[in-house]
Amino acid sequence: MPKDAETTTCTSCGRKIIWTLSPANKRLPVDARRVPVYDLEPSINGARVIKRGTHYISHFLTCPNASQHSKGNERPSRGVES
Ligand SMILES: [Zn+2]
Repeated sequence: MPKDAETTTCTSCGRKIIWTLSPANKRLPVDARRVPVYDLEPSINGARVIKRGTHYISHFLTCPNASQHSKGNERPSRGVES
């Protein structure tokens, strides 16, 4: 089993994700759940969709706290400094 297929939990939103390496060798979290993907095909009766299978999508697109990912794991701020 490849190590990058391990399911983990997003520290920002708590959803299940898988850490992967992008083609550019950057760490990229994807949602652990595959989603159906469609293509649009114009037809006489309006746009029609063709299912293109199920794929993993970047967690940066679905995470409500995506902006926190780039900062890494921040330490909790201290309340009062003495
Ligand atoms: Zn998240």
